[in-house]
Amino acid sequence: MTRSRDALVADFPGLTRDRKYGEGNYEGQRFIVIDTGGLTGGEEGLDAEMARQSMQAVEEADIVLFLVDGKAGLNGGDELIAAHLRKTGKRAHLVVNKTDGQDPDIAASDFYALGFDSTYLIAASHNRGIRSMLEELLPSEEEREAQDRADRYPGIRIGIVGRPNVGKSTLVNRMLGEDRVIVYDMPGTTRDSVYIPFERMDNQYTLIDTAGVRRRKNVSEVVEKFSIIKTLQAIDDAHVVILVIDAREGLVDQDLHLIGFVLDAGRSLVVAVNKWDGMDPEDRAKVKEQVQRRLDFLDYADKHYISALHGSGVGVMYDSVHACYESAMAKWPTNRLTAILQDATAQHQPPLVQGRRIKLRYAHQGGSNPPVIVVHGNQTDALPGAYKRYLENTFRKVLKVNGSPIRFEFRSSE
Ligand code: GDP
Repeated sequence: MTRSRDALVADFPGLTRDRKYGEGNYEGQRFIVIDTGGLTGGEEGLDAEMARQSMQAVEEADIVLFLVDGKAGLNGGDELIAAHLRKTGKRAHLVVNKTDGQDPDIAASDFYALGFDSTYLIAASHNRGIRSMLEELLPSEEEREAQDRADRYPGIRIGIVGRPNVGKSTLVNRMLGEDRVIVYDMPGTTRDSVYIPFERMDNQYTLIDTAGVRRRKNVSEVVEKFSIIKTLQAIDDAHVVILVIDAREGLVDQDLHLIGFVLDAGRSLVVAVNKWDGMDPEDRAKVKEQVQRRLDFLDYADKHYISALHGSGVGVMYDSVHACYESAMAKWPTNRLTAILQDATAQHQPPLVQGRRIKLRYAHQGGSNPPVIVVHGNQTDALPGAYKRYLENTFRKVLKVNGSPIRFEFRSSE
C-alpha cells in the first residue's frame, strides 16, 4: 500500500513489532497506513503491549483492515479480535492475505463466519488485489466532491425535481412556510439549485430546490429554465428525491425520463402527483390508473396525491421521506444477508448451466444510498435476469426496503 519496504516484509513472525507509519498515494489521493505488530487474540506479557499498540492504531484510524492468513486458515484468536474490533465501532474490513496459489473464495470461506461486512482477498507479496481494495476503500473523486458540496447541509437532503410548471416552487414554499422564502429569493438562483436547511418537528432537513425559489409576491413570475445538469446534481446530492408530476397533464414521457435519472443515480424516490385539488372524480380515477400502470415497475415507491397550493397531502409525505431515508442508509450485517440468500436459494434454486448448478454462497453489503448487496458464488455471470429479480424482490421484502433501489453485484470465483 505504501510501495516501500519501510515496514519490512519477511517471512517470520514478530518482525514488525511496533506501530509503523507509511504514506500511500493512490491516484493522487494520499493516505496514511499504520502497520501494527499483529495479535493472537489472547495477549499476555510482551504480547499484551503489542495488543495495546495495535488498539491505539485502531483508535487513530478511520478505516481498520483486519488482516488474516488465508493459507493458515481461521485461528482461534481471530474471533476474539473480530469481537473486539466490533466493539470499537470503527469501519473494519476483513482482508484475507496469501490467497495466491489457491481458490481465493475457498481460502476466504472459513473467515466469513467472523461476520465482517466486507472482505477483500489479496496476495500482498504478489501485489494482487491491492489496487482494487484501495479503489473501494478510498472515496472516489466524485464522491469526495459530492460529499464536500452536500455535507455542508444538515439532516435528510430532499431533492425536489420535476418538469417546469408542475408546482415545485409551490411545494417548496408549502414545505417551508411562506416567511422563509423571501430570504432565498435572490439573483443567481437560476443556474444552481438552492439548498435550504430547515427543521420540522425536531427533525433536520435540507431541501434541494431545483426550481430555485424565485417568486415574491408582486414580482412577475420568471419562467424557469429547465436544466438537466441542475436536476442531475440535485438528485446526486439528495438522500431522497420527491418527483413532482402535474396531475392535470398526467404522466408524460419527460416524467419517466426523470424517474430514470433518479433510479440510475440509485436514489430513493417519492412520487408526488400534484394539483390534485379541484379535479373531478373521473379525471382523478384516470390519472391514478395511468400512474399505477406506467409506474408498475416502481411498486416499491410511495405515490402521493397532493395539492401543493392548499397543502393537502404534503405532511404525510414526510413519512415516506423517512422510510426512504432509512432504507437508503440501512446497514445490514453479513450473516443476515447470507441467511436471506440461503433461504432464497433453498426456496427456489438457481438454474443449471451446462449441467452444473449455479451456486450462490454468501452476501455482504457493499455500500449505501443506494444500498449495494454483493453476492458471491460461481457461474454468477450466467444467472438469468428473472432469477436476479427474484433475489431483489426477496431481499426487498425481508429487509423492508421502501422507495430505494437496491443494487446487486455478483462476484464469481469461476
Ligand atoms: P414549478 O415551475 O415546478 O416550480 O411550478 P410552480 O410552483 O411555479 O407552479 C406552476 C403553476 O402551477 C403556478 O401557477 C402554481 O400556482 C400552480 N400550482 C402549483 N401547485 C398547484 C396545486 O397544487 N394546485 C393548483 N391548482 N395549482 C398549482
